[in-house]
Amino acid sequence: MKTCLSYDITSVVEITNGKLLGDGDTSVNYLSIDSRTLLDPAKTLFFALIGERHNGHSYIEELYRKGVRNFVISQEDIVRKEFSQANFILVYDTLEALHQLSRWHRSRFNYPVIGITGSNGKTIVKEWLFQLLQPDCQIVRSPKSYNSQVGVPLSLWNLYPEASMAIIEAGISQPGEMKKLEAMIQPQGGIFTHLGDAHQENFESTEEKLNEKLELFDHSDWLIYCRDDERIHKAILQRKGSPLDCFTWSRNQEAQLRIRGEIKRGGTTCIRGEFSQRNIEVVLPFTDKASIENAIHCWAYLLREGIEDATIRKRMKKLQPVAMRLEIKEGLGNCTLINDFYNSDLGSLPIALDMLNQQQQKKKKKTLILSDIFQSGISAKELYAEVATLIEQKGVDRLIGIGESISEHAGLFDLERNFYRSTDQFLHDFSRNLFRDEVILIRGARNFHFERISNMLQYKAHRTVLEVNLNAMVHNLNYFRSLLKPETRVVVMVKAFSYGSGSVEVANLLQFQRVDYLAVAIADEGVELRNAGIDVPIMVMNPEYHSFDTMIEYRLEPEIYSLAMLESFETALKRNGVKDFPVHIKFDTGMHRMGFGQAELDQLLQKISGNDQLHIRSVFSHLAGADEEQHDDFTRLQIERFKEWSGKIQTAFPYPVWRHILNSAGIERFPEAQFEMVRLGIGLYGVSSTYQDKLRNVSSLKTTISQIQEVSANGTVGYGRRGLLLRDSRIGIIPIGYADGFNRHLGNGRGSVLVNGVLVPVVGNVCMDMSMIDLTDVEAREGDTVTIFGDEKSLLAMARELDTIPYEILTTVSRRVKRVYFQE
Ligand SMILES: *Cc1c(COP(=O)(O)O)cnc(C)c1O
Repeated sequence: MKTCLSYDITSVVEITNGKLLGDGDTSVNYLSIDSRTLLDPAKTLFFALIGERHNGHSYIEELYRKGVRNFVISQEDIVRKEFSQANFILVYDTLEALHQLSRWHRSRFNYPVIGITGSNGKTIVKEWLFQLLQPDCQIVRSPKSYNSQVGVPLSLWNLYPEASMAIIEAGISQPGEMKKLEAMIQPQGGIFTHLGDAHQENFESTEEKLNEKLELFDHSDWLIYCRDDERIHKAILQRKGSPLDCFTWSRNQEAQLRIRGEIKRGGTTCIRGEFSQRNIEVVLPFTDKASIENAIHCWAYLLREGIEDATIRKRMKKLQPVAMRLEIKEGLGNCTLINDFYNSDLGSLPIALDMLNQQQQKKKKKTLILSDIFQSGISAKELYAEVATLIEQKGVDRLIGIGESISEHAGLFDLERNFYRSTDQFLHDFSRNLFRDEVILIRGARNFHFERISNMLQYKAHRTVLEVNLNAMVHNLNYFRSLLKPETRVVVMVKAFSYGSGSVEVANLLQFQRVDYLAVAIADEGVELRNAGIDVPIMVMNPEYHSFDTMIEYRLEPEIYSLAMLESFETALKRNGVKDFPVHIKFDTGMHRMGFGQAELDQLLQKISGNDQLHIRSVFSHLAGADEEQHDDFTRLQIERFKEWSGKIQTAFPYPVWRHILNSAGIERFPEAQFEMVRLGIGLYGVSSTYQDKLRNVSSLKTTISQIQEVSANGTVGYGRRGLLLRDSRIGIIPIGYADGFNRHLGNGRGSVLVNGVLVPVVGNVCMDMSMIDLTDVEAREGDTVTIFGDEKSLLAMARELDTIPYEILTTVSRRVKRVYFQE
C-alpha cells in the first residue's frame, strides 16, 4: 500500500502563513517548481521561486494554460483577471513557504529518517543502503542527488504513511543552509561520508564548512563516520548540540569497526574487519578507492543495526554500481537512444522521462523500453498502475515492457504497447524496422542487461568516442550567467557543430535552459536545428546570398555586414512578401573581419530607418583581443566606438535595438560592457582565458587499446620507421588517427595520452586511422580506456603540445567520431 497524501489549499495557507487569493476550495498532491516538468497539472501546487536568474512568477501564464490552478507566490501584481479560476497563496518568501510545507509534511511521520552528508559519496551511500536494506523494509529516499534547498523539500514530499524509513541526502554550498535542511529533515541519525574541498569558495575555511555540515546532526541521536580524518573527528568531539552516539570505523586506530586488511582479486575486494571482538569479512564487486570507502560506511550502518554477518555478506557481494548518468546516443533508423540501465526504481522514473521530453525532437515519437521494477512494499498492480499514470502524464507514445511482471499487467497501459517475457525474447523477435524516428528511453534493472538492447539499436559500436557532459555544460552556462545582470540576454554560439560537441543535442539542452538566442555560422546549420524542432531564435553569422530564401522560410536571422548584402536581403524579403524580418547589424570596430565602418554609418542609417521590410533586432561588434591583457586599451577603444555608433542606430528606431559586443572572454573580463546581450562561445564548452577553475570540462575524447605488442630494443614502430625503441617495450595500438582529428604532429613523443592514470607518449608517426603508444611504464591491458583529452588530461595541455588553441582541437575532432552525451 502507498497512500498519496493530499493537502487542502486552506491548510497550505495556514501552514505557510499565507494570504489566500481565490476560493481555495480544492486540494493538491504534487509540488512543482519547474514549469517544464509537470505531472498532473490540476493536482499540482506550483511554487514561484525567485533565483538570481530565474523568476518562477514569469511562468504562471504558461502554467495556467497547461491547467495548473494553484500557486504560491510572493509578487502580488502577478494576479490578474485572466487567472479567474486560480488560487494564489501570497507569502513573503516562496522558498521559505516550500520549506514550511515540507517541514509540516515531514513531521507527520514517526519512522526513522536518516540524514547523509559529506563532500562526496552521498548519493552512492544512499543508493547502496537502499539496495542493502530494501529486502526488509519500505524505504523512501531522495531521488538521484536531490540534496539542495529545493531538492530536499521535494525529496521529503515523497514520504508516505506506509513506509518504514527514509534516507535523505543533504548538500550545502553556502553558510546558513544546513540549519534549514536540518529543520526539514529532522534526522534521527546519520552518516558523514567524506570531507573534500568542493564548494570551498563560499566558506572561509574547510573547518567552517565542516562545522556547518555537522549541523545536520544537531538534534540527532547517532552518527557514523570514518575516524581516520582527524579534522572530522576533532570537529565532532568539539561540536555543540545533542550528545551523539558515535559509531566509527578506522584503518589504523581504535574504532567500533576496525579495518584489518583489503585484498583485491579479479574485480572484487575482500575487506577483513574486527567488530565486537570478532573477525568479520565482506567481499565487494568493486576495487576502486571511493567504492570501498562508501561500502564501508554502509557496512558500519548494517553492523550498528545488528544485522547478521551472513546477511551482510550475502547482500554486499551483490551491490550494484549506481548509474550517476544517463547516456544519449545515436541509434539506427534515425532514432535517439537514452540509456538508463542501472536505475529501475519508480522514484527516479519521472526524471528519466523528463530527459525524454528534453531530447524529443520534432516528429519523433517518444518510446519507453522498461523492465520489471523491483520495489518491495507495494503490490505489483499498484506499482504498474502508478507507472501507467506517470507515462501518460509525461506524454510517452509507445511502451515496450520486458519481464514477467510488467507483461502480466499489460492491461493497465493505455497506449501503443508490446510486451516480452525476457530480454532474450525481445532480442530474438527484434527486427531493425521496429524502430524509426523515435526517441527511445531504455531503462531496466541491471539483471535485465539492457545494454544488449542498446548495442543492437545503436548506430555502430564505436571504440573512439567524444563524450559530452551536459551537466558540465549547464554548470558553465550558469557560471557565465552569474557574471551578468539578470536581464541581459545570452546568445550561445553553436557554430561549427557546437565547437565540435554536436548540434542538435546541445541545442535541445540550451533551449531547455532557456537561452535567448542561438548563433550558427551558415544557414545549413540553422536548417538542421529547425528540422530537429529547435524553436529558439537563431542568428546566422555568415549568411550566403544564395541561402536567403531558405533563411526566410526557416526564420534564420542574418548578420548584415555590408550595404550590398543589405540590399540583396531586402530584395529577398520583398520576393517572399515578408515584412519586419529580424536582422542583426555588424560593426567593424577594429577586428577588420567584416562589418560596417564609421564611414558607412550615415548611408546605413538612411537605408534602414523607415524600412518596414527589416526589423533591426540588434547591432553588434566583435572584440579582437578580449582574452589578453596586453590588448586591453584596444578593447576599451573598440567598446567606446561601439557605444557611439550603436547609439546612433538606437535613436533612429522607435523600438528597442539590442547591443552586444562581448564574447566569452569579454564576459569574464569586461562585464561592464554587457549592454543588452552577450555572445557566449568557448566558455560554454569549458575553456576560459582567465578563470579556468570556475569551469568544468565538457568534452572528453576517448578510445581503447586494441592490441598490445612486445617489441625488443632497436625495433621500430610505424611508418618511416620513425619510432626507434631504445629499450624492450610494450606498444599499445589505439584506433584513432589523423582522420579522426588526432593531429599528426602529436607523433614521435610530442603528444601524450592518459592510460590508467599515467601519461604515456605517442610512439612513431600517427597513421590515418591508428596510432601507437608506449605502455612500458604503465600497467595496461587490451580493452583499457585511453583518454586523448578530458577531465584528467586537459584540452589546454593538448593545445600546448600542438602549439594551437583549444578551439581548433575541439572543432577538428572529425564527424566520424561518435558523440555520446551524458547527464549525471
Ligand atoms: C565565435 C564567435 C563568438 C564566440 O567567441 P568565443 O571566444 O568562443 O566566446 C562571438 N562572436 C562572434 C561574432 C563569433 O564569431
